[in-house]
Amino acid sequence: SRQEEHVSSTTSSRAQAADGGNKVINLDHGNPTMFEGYWRGTGEKSTILIRGWESMSYFSDLGNVCWFLEPEFAKQITRLHGSVGNAITHDRHIVVGTGSTQLFQAVLYALSFPSPNASPQQPISVVSAIPYYSSYPSLTDYLKSGLYKWDGDAYNFTKDEPYIELVTSPNNPDGFIRQPVVNRSRGTVVYDLAYYWPQYTPITSPADHDLMLFTFSKITGHAGTRIGWALVKDKEVARKMTEFIILNTIGVSKDSQHRAAKLLQVVSGSSEHMGFPEDSERFFLYAYHQMTQRWERLRDAVRRSGLFSLPEFLPQFCNYFGGFTEPHPAFAWLKCEGDIEDCESFLGEHKIITRSGRHFGVEAKYVRISMLDRDEIFNLFVERFLDTTNHALVSG
Ligand code: PMP
Repeated sequence: SRQEEHVSSTTSSRAQAADGGNKVINLDHGNPTMFEGYWRGTGEKSTILIRGWESMSYFSDLGNVCWFLEPEFAKQITRLHGSVGNAITHDRHIVVGTGSTQLFQAVLYALSFPSPNASPQQPISVVSAIPYYSSYPSLTDYLKSGLYKWDGDAYNFTKDEPYIELVTSPNNPDGFIRQPVVNRSRGTVVYDLAYYWPQYTPITSPADHDLMLFTFSKITGHAGTRIGWALVKDKEVARKMTEFIILNTIGVSKDSQHRAAKLLQVVSGSSEHMGFPEDSERFFLYAYHQMTQRWERLRDAVRRSGLFSLPEFLPQFCNYFGGFTEPHPAFAWLKCEGDIEDCESFLGEHKIITRSGRHFGVEAKYVRISMLDRDEIFNLFVERFLDTTNHALVSG
């Protein structure tokens, strides 16, 4: 029964807590479960009901370039960007995807597809400045496409050929705001703005690029809903991206779009001061406070360790909060400062699983650590991290 399930899961988490010293702490993936508490608190407000006969058709809006985009979801995307002020939606096509992971591939397809009657082409180079998001190389190359290929660090790109540059801002893994680095006339820049939300970074101006990718996963934490969207200026690019998604999955789950629409409605409703919600009900403020506390605790532990360092950020004026805020990235980009050359192995010996800098195109002295796991895991991590460094100092 449900009751038994609840009891047994509570018992097992108690057992785990008691055995916290042995537990493997996996902070390799950026699984954003830390906002669960907020969503529990919203109760019925964030619940949707889908009847058996609803959302059966493949089609959502035949008048739209992206005809599988649910109009209510599109409305909530526009509303959210408007209330947060992080992106211009005016004069843009919205393309929905199964996570921004699918949209990334749709973008590569759309930008590299040869025009009719064009002579045979070499695969277009896809580049991103180090340290880059570790999934870009494999997502680009896993199908060995004849249209595009991964060409590594954008700082090393000097060819006089068409290229696609990925700009992740704030960046995964290091949290810095980024600009394109190649700046040649034959390139197209794709902005991956997965983390351009007020809990992670000050919102200094609305992003106004031709091609911008967003993911639902990192805004509200609902990675399992598998929803992302692209804001696309050029209609032909939007049409080609839509074509990719039709070939790939004939559209995107309507059930997921309905759920995402509902959750975004709750987020925007909580931000727009309608009905003067309590501060703790304001999603971005809640999430910002959570991130602030976690970063303070991690910075304190790193300072006490004397073995590691973290990136330093300057506060900036956040238009959304109406005051100065500091970046609190979704990942900690930790560097081993001492003799330890392989930071992933060092932490791994203490059962802390992280992702080595090598996956991001840099040295193994760096690791990426997810800051978005549940409280219980984060607390265990900080404790273990301090033990690790005490142990290293004692044993020299
Ligand atoms: N881009 C970046 C920079 C990311 O960090 C992630 C998630 N780790 C994604 C895209 C993919 O997100 P989604 O869950 O929407 O596929």
